[in-house]
Amino acid sequence: MCGIVGYIGYRDAYPILIKGLHRLEYRGYDSAGVALINNDSKLSVYKAKGKVQDLEDFAKDKNITGTIGIAHTRWATHGEPSNANAHPHYSQSESLALIHNGIIENYTVLKAELTSKGYTFHSSTDTEVLVQLIEYIKSTNHCDLFTAVQLALNQVIGAYAIAVIDKSDPDQIIAARKSSPLVVGIGEDEFFLASDASPIVEYTNKVIYLEDEEIVVIRRGEEPKIVTISNVVSTPHIQELKLSLSQLEKGGYPHFMLKEIFEQPETLQSCMSGRINVEGTNVTLSGIIDYKEKFVNARRIIIIACGTSWHAGLIGEYLIEEYCRIPVEVEYASEFRYRNPVIFPDDIVIAISQSGETADSLAAIELARKAGAFVYGVCNVVGSSIPRNTDSGSYTHCGPEIGVASTKAFTAQVTVLAMMALAIAKEKGTIEKDVYLKILKELQNIPNKIKEILKLNEDIKNLSSIFTYAHNFIYLGRGYSYPVALEGALKLKEISYIHAEGYPAAEMKHGPIALIDNEMPIVAIATNNAIYEKVVSNIQEIKARNGRVIAIVSDGDETIKELADHYIQIPSTLECLDPLLSTIPLQLLAYHVAVHKNRDVDMPRNLAKSVTVE
Ligand code: GLU
Repeated sequence: MCGIVGYIGYRDAYPILIKGLHRLEYRGYDSAGVALINNDSKLSVYKAKGKVQDLEDFAKDKNITGTIGIAHTRWATHGEPSNANAHPHYSQSESLALIHNGIIENYTVLKAELTSKGYTFHSSTDTEVLVQLIEYIKSTNHCDLFTAVQLALNQVIGAYAIAVIDKSDPDQIIAARKSSPLVVGIGEDEFFLASDASPIVEYTNKVIYLEDEEIVVIRRGEEPKIVTISNVVSTPHIQELKLSLSQLEKGGYPHFMLKEIFEQPETLQSCMSGRINVEGTNVTLSGIIDYKEKFVNARRIIIIACGTSWHAGLIGEYLIEEYCRIPVEVEYASEFRYRNPVIFPDDIVIAISQSGETADSLAAIELARKAGAFVYGVCNVVGSSIPRNTDSGSYTHCGPEIGVASTKAFTAQVTVLAMMALAIAKEKGTIEKDVYLKILKELQNIPNKIKEILKLNEDIKNLSSIFTYAHNFIYLGRGYSYPVALEGALKLKEISYIHAEGYPAAEMKHGPIALIDNEMPIVAIATNNAIYEKVVSNIQEIKARNGRVIAIVSDGDETIKELADHYIQIPSTLECLDPLLSTIPLQLLAYHVAVHKNRDVDMPRNLAKSVTVE
């Protein structure tokens, strides 16, 4: 959360910073701001509540000259979204300006100390404390900015990615990170700084991912210098970016979310590519092959994740238990990290995260590693913190996901988990060869079947217009469809702001059935599976109470089509792969309901992607 951008070089910084903020807006959009050292050596800070566009409107008649600057798009943690709380924050003398992603946990103590020394605060953020502390140390110790930042960070408890500029030294940006991501882009006579590589990619493909507690000194005409907060010099490791610009644009779609839903046939193909052999008879995941003994001998698998990734984890649990016969637990990372869980050294912990930066998952990983467990990451963003802090892993390779509500990352996570289950089951000998081949073959048919479902887009759009009146929705599923029900409900909540609950269909009668009346829409995932008949009975129970049923059914179904008020018919597949298909109409349903309700689909209120704070 919170997007950070910085530039120093020979071009005008402002347009580069603004473009970068637009790319990072998925990380927060409560307010935006920019600090520039203008051509007349003045340090100007412009900020505005709202989106990056609001900042642009505010700054259009201001002095936006200068070849050095930092910029921020905020997801508020401390202090409401307002102009005063927007970053960058000035220091007391207005010589320094600083931007921050993260939380300074001991800010109240530091603030009290600084206040007693005569410092005045203009915001209610935790961040402002940091810039005042740096200035205080710089002036009392008569040291340079780097040393002041280093000393200040030694006093700070919490998480940060920061960038700071000093008007008395227009040739330098100092930046640092701990638990929040930061990337330095290396161009010809120019440098970039950002929370992820998306603002950098059009200028250079050479980047350095900063490690925790590293401070980078970026000075014109010099190589970046990296020193830790404990004063250890690090050798910068320059990596090559593999990201294309077209992946970051809407490509003619009205929203990133719709583009990403429609990309799924290709993204799943690229997720499987190079892993399933050309004959389609074998799946190899290098992250598993290299550690196959660990997987074969695992006592238990614990999957840790948050949000949509947690739903993918539940599907992973069903797959791994069914085919590998290894007990699996799926935990919310935020709960796991604080509840003193039992972790054995022969456990395997699988951390699932689109961004690879989820703060709670990173903390849960640390806990698991301390307990001696082997940790495997399933992430999308290459080079992000989780892949760098795990023993092994698999990327989902679905390209940048920009819509805040996750779609293609979810199906790619489920695909990776299905491939993992097959690969482990084969190594363990817990799967019959014909079952293995049948699942693998069907997995390769999934992209084409998704293409068929996407043809229903117009029908689903029309259907969704009927339900914009609803204040509540219930989603029901059983077996592999239960996590799909949870995910469908989450999508609707996130982007339409309609309250929605996912339930195992049979749990209805233990409470939620009391909510049903003739206004309540119930989305029932009733595709072919071993307990199809039971789901039919659950739908009968709803109809007997006048609920309005929208059923997701498999091709050839006649029974539920008769029963339901509305139905969406999708291709049949194997039960264990059905989530990859049944989730697609639910993504489209949520999308169109939200569009009908005029919601900001790609940037829903209060949310942000890449949850780098607790
Ligand atoms: N804690 C800072 C603020 O509220 C930054 C928030 C963040 O990085 O999400 O302004």
